[in-house]
Amino acid sequence: MKLLILDRDGVINEDSDAYIKSLDEWIPIPSAIAAIARLSRAGWTIAVATNQSGIARGYYDLATLESMHARLRELVAEQGGEVGLIAYCPHGPDDGCECRKPKPGMLWQIAAHYDVSLSGIWFVGDTRGDLDAALAVDCQPVLVKTGKGERTLAKPLPEGTLVFDDLAAVAAHLLP
Ligand SMILES: [Mg+2]
Ligand SMILES: [Zn+2]
Repeated sequence: MKLLILDRDGVINEDSDAYIKSLDEWIPIPSAIAAIARLSRAGWTIAVATNQSGIARGYYDLATLESMHARLRELVAEQGGEVGLIAYCPHGPDDGCECRKPKPGMLWQIAAHYDVSLSGIWFVGDTRGDLDAALAVDCQPVLVKTGKGERTLAKPLPEGTLVFDDLAAVAAHLLP
């Protein structure tokens, strides 16, 4: 199967240093929504792996998070596409969980869900934690310049990281 794994904040929707705490604060990047729909229509499965420590911090609840993901699914569906598994880590940095990136737990979860090997699968993110999670499981680390991407790019990147302007550019590369 053609599987592509995406970080959420800064890749699919605008990032915020103040957390994204409500559906109103979840602002999709229109070209990213279109890119997901295009990839999906071309037979790609699009999964998401997102750190959401704002839940552990009490900034928003699971129902709010699910409303954002329902909106995401709805926007992509309007363009004839589909979003696959959305894995999220609700824990905080001190919880010692296995899912908070740069730990690769959510990538394992996605691999188990689809029963595929992660080796060589592209994982697209905007932070160093995304790239490190990808490397931990032999995914291909891909950095986009949206969200915190420019900040991440200001420091040395792991060898072999691919860099694109945004998710639309990733889709343009992957699609004929
Ligand atoms: Mg991000
Ligand atoms: Zn976690």
